[in-house]
Amino acid sequence: MQINVDRNRCEGHGLCEERGPRVFALDDDGELIHRFEGTDVPAEYETEAAAAVAACPVVALRQAGPTR
Ligand code: SF4
Repeated sequence: MQINVDRNRCEGHGLCEERGPRVFALDDDGELIHRFEGTDVPAEYETEAAAAVAACPVVALRQAGPTR
């Protein structure tokens, strides 16, 4: 699966980092770091990636592509 980020929506709440710390992080300026932007999230991280998508309060994260 891939996760797309709408950076215009992201407000830096950091819930995605809390739920999916191996996929998402916030930098020192509160900007979202998506470690697998434009590429597949490794299979072993998919569960936490999906939890992060579900947790984002502003729906800035969207799951794209097939789930294995
Ligand atoms: S939870 Fe949503 S709004 Fe918050 S940092 Fe992550 S993507 Fe951005």
